[in-house]
Amino acid sequence: MSGIVSEIKCENCGAPLNINPGEIVSTCRYCGYTAVVGADEPFQLEHSLILNNNNAASVENALRDWMREGFMKPGDLAKKSKILTLELRYLPFWLVPIEATSTYEGVLERISPPSPRKGVINRDYDWLVLGRKGAQFPTRDYTVPDTGKIPFDFKRIDSGAKFLNSEMTNEEAVEHAREEVDVNQRFLAKQEIDQITSFNTNFKVDKPTYIHAPIWFSTYEYKGRSYNAVLDGSSGMVLRADIPQTDFKMI
Ligand SMILES: [Zn+2]
Repeated sequence: MSGIVSEIKCENCGAPLNINPGEIVSTCRYCGYTAVVGADEPFQLEHSLILNNNNAASVENALRDWMREGFMKPGDLAKKSKILTLELRYLPFWLVPIEATSTYEGVLERISPPSPRKGVINRDYDWLVLGRKGAQFPTRDYTVPDTGKIPFDFKRIDSGAKFLNSEMTNEEAVEHAREEVDVNQRFLAKQEIDQITSFNTNFKVDKPTYIHAPIWFSTYEYKGRSYNAVLDGSSGMVLRADIPQTDFKMI
């Protein structure tokens, strides 16, 4: 990778585009113009933004509430923890509408005698794919909120936030979605039968939506160690957070 990527200019307004190596879809922070890197025409798919409804104070409150609830956590977690970092990032997602129809054959072994079974599993999904490679994010725990989703408007992005572009095209995202939906369909088939002898899925894929979602990343310190937390900027909910191990005294 060369370092010359920073010389790329916005096709629409001429402002310099901050494109990092690996990013494939670019969005101009000055005018909102979005295009596939290297392509001259604007982005053709539905492009949405989820509004951030939180600030550092409300996110810290939500994190402390989370620390106080549930008995799997140390009792003094909320009191003794120190928030080390708190950062808002807009993450790029692809929302892929997929109808999957799987036909399966196999053997039911959980009752005796084992008997052959077959069936069909039909499901509609709005499958979410993170447009970043190698990034850690609990995609399956995250549901794109219906409220607060607006057509992409760069003026509604919090100015202090980090804005990340997609590192995959919509075709790659669809491919990911198909693979993951297929795994999920197999999982559902495994609820019905114990041995799968044949399994085939047909996909009907609709147009993906490109979405920027506000996610807060935090690290906190508890008893000298640091832990991670990820919160949804729309709802303020904790999506995933590390829980310090406690030594439960079993009596
Ligand atoms: Zn521009």
